[in-house]
Amino acid sequence: MGKIIKSYFCPYCNGNITNTLLEGYFGQCEACDEDFLRIELKEAGYHLVLVRIFAGEYEKHARTLVKANSAKEAHKLALLGQCHADPEDLQWEKDGVYDLHGEFFYKVVNSTPVSNKDAEVLLKYF
Ligand SMILES: [Zn+2]
Repeated sequence: MGKIIKSYFCPYCNGNITNTLLEGYFGQCEACDEDFLRIELKEAGYHLVLVRIFAGEYEKHARTLVKANSAKEAHKLALLGQCHADPEDLQWEKDGVYDLHGEFFYKVVNSTPVSNKDAEVLLKYF
C-alpha cells in the first residue's frame, strides 16, 4: 500500500490515489484498484466558498479556501470547517448543516473555482 497523493483523484470513482511505480504507472486508486498515468488523473482544485452562519437571530459570513475534487466536495469541506461538533453529531439538511444541536446553522452562499496560482497567493495571507 503506497502513500496517498493528495492533489489527485480517481477520474472514475473520485477515490484517493496512492503512489505506485509499478510498470510505469503513476498511481493507483485506493477504491477501485485501477492504475493510472499522471495525465489520466483528475487534479484537485481550489474553491473559494462563502458560507452564511446563522446563530440564533444573528447572521454572519465567512469565506474559506478549500482544496477539493469537485464543487460539491468543496462545499461540504467549507461547511465542515465551520462546525464545532464531532462530524457524527452534525445534522445535514439539503441546504446546509446544523451544528451543536441546532445552535448554529451553516449554508453555502456561493463558491468560485480558484486557480492554483491564485490560491498560492491567497494562502499566503490567510
Ligand atoms: Zn477509482
